[in-house]
Amino acid sequence: MIPPFRPSLGAAEWRALLGRQTGAVERFERAFAARFGATEGVAFGYGRSALSGFLQAVGVEEAEVVMPAYTCSVVAHAIVHSGNRPVFVDLCGADFNMDLERLPQAIGPKTRAVVATHLFGYPLDLERLELIVSEAQARFGHRIWLIQDCAHAFGARWKGRLVGTCGDVALYGLNISKTMTSIFGGMLTFHDARLAAQVRSWRDAHLRAAGWVKSLSRRAYLAAAGVAFTGPVYGLTRWLQDETPLLDRLTRSYHLDDDVALPPDAFDRMVDVEGAVGLAQLERYPEIVERRRAHAAFYARVLSSTPKRVLPPIVDGATYSHYVVRVADRRACIQRLAREGIQLGELIQYCVADLPAYRGGAPTPEASVAATCTVNLPVQPHLSPAQLERIAERFAAATA
Ligand SMILES: *Cc1c(COP(=O)(O)O)cnc(C)c1O
Repeated sequence: MIPPFRPSLGAAEWRALLGRQTGAVERFERAFAARFGATEGVAFGYGRSALSGFLQAVGVEEAEVVMPAYTCSVVAHAIVHSGNRPVFVDLCGADFNMDLERLPQAIGPKTRAVVATHLFGYPLDLERLELIVSEAQARFGHRIWLIQDCAHAFGARWKGRLVGTCGDVALYGLNISKTMTSIFGGMLTFHDARLAAQVRSWRDAHLRAAGWVKSLSRRAYLAAAGVAFTGPVYGLTRWLQDETPLLDRLTRSYHLDDDVALPPDAFDRMVDVEGAVGLAQLERYPEIVERRRAHAAFYARVLSSTPKRVLPPIVDGATYSHYVVRVADRRACIQRLAREGIQLGELIQYCVADLPAYRGGAPTPEASVAATCTVNLPVQPHLSPAQLERIAERFAAATA
C-alpha cells in the first residue's frame, strides 16, 4: 500500500535516536534559522504551542488575529489558547491561499496579528502582504504582528525571496506529517534579535523541561512511524487505524479538528533527540524538496484538468507539501484508489470557519467548497518512477 505521506528518514536520523544528543535543540535552532533565511530560531514542543507562545510573549490578548479559513485547525486553537479570537479570510482560486484582496477588510481596530499561511507550499505575494499590514498599522495606529505560517512551506520562495524573511516571525510545525520533521516540535524564526530574545525568555519561563520518559517515548514514536509508513507495513497500519481503537490514542490526542484544546504536553520543551533528528533532516532537506517538486511536475505533465478533476498549479518557488487536486466525487475516488493499493490524503477536509467552535463569522464560501472536494496525491521523496506512473494512471482512470 502506498501511504499518502511518509517521513523521509535516513541513517543519520536513526543514529540520532541512539545517542544522548546534549545541546541538540540549541544547535537545531541555529542551523534551522540559518537554512531558512533568519538569524534566530526558538524551538517549542509543537508548532501550535509556538504560535500561542509568540502571541503571549508579545502581549497580544483579547484581540483579533486574522488567519485563513482554509488551513490546519490547530492554528485557530492556538489563537484561542493564547486568549484571542480568530477572524477568517476566504481563499482565492487555484492555489488555496488566503485571498489578499479580502485581507484588508478582515483587519479591524481590534486586530493585533495576521497569520499568513503559505498553504501546501504555495508562496503568498510577500510584498503585497507587507504593504497591506503596514497600511493597516498606519490606519489603526498600533502594531499588527505579521506571522508567516510556513508549516507547509519550508524554504518556499516568492520571486526568489524566502517566505520566512517576511514579517516579524515565521512559524514552522515539525511533526512527522510535515515536509521535514523533528518527531514533534515547532520552531519560530526571527530576524530581529530583540524580539527573538523576548520570546525566548517567555519560553524559558513558561515551558516545562521534559524528562527522560518523554525522550524515550519520542524515540519509540519515530521508530514506530518509520516502520509504519513503509510500503509493506502501511496496509497493516491503515487497518489498525480503521478497524481497531489501538492507534486512537496516538492520532486523537495529537489532533481533534474540533476540539479547541492543545495537547497535554503542549508546553513541554522540545527534547534533545528531536533537535538531533531535526538537524539530520536539515541536511537532507534540499533533496527532499527537489524530489517533491519533481513529483508534482510529473503529475502536472502526465495528468490534465478535466470537469472531474482540477489540478493544482505549478508555481515557481513552491514546495508542494501536498499535491492537492479538487475532484468531483472525493469519497468514490479515495475508495477506488485504496482498493488499488494507493491511499490518497484528503487534506484539508474541513473549513476552519465552519467548525462548530468557530462558526458565526462572515461566510467563507470558497473555503467551504474546497473542504468538500480535495484529495492529495502522494509526493513523498521515496516514490519510485513506477509508483508515480501507477498513481497517475489509476487516479486518471478514477477521475475520468
Ligand atoms: C501542522 C501545521 C501547524 C502546526 O504544527 P503542529 O506542530 O502540528 O502544532 C501550523 N500550521 C499549519 C498550516 C500546519 O499544517
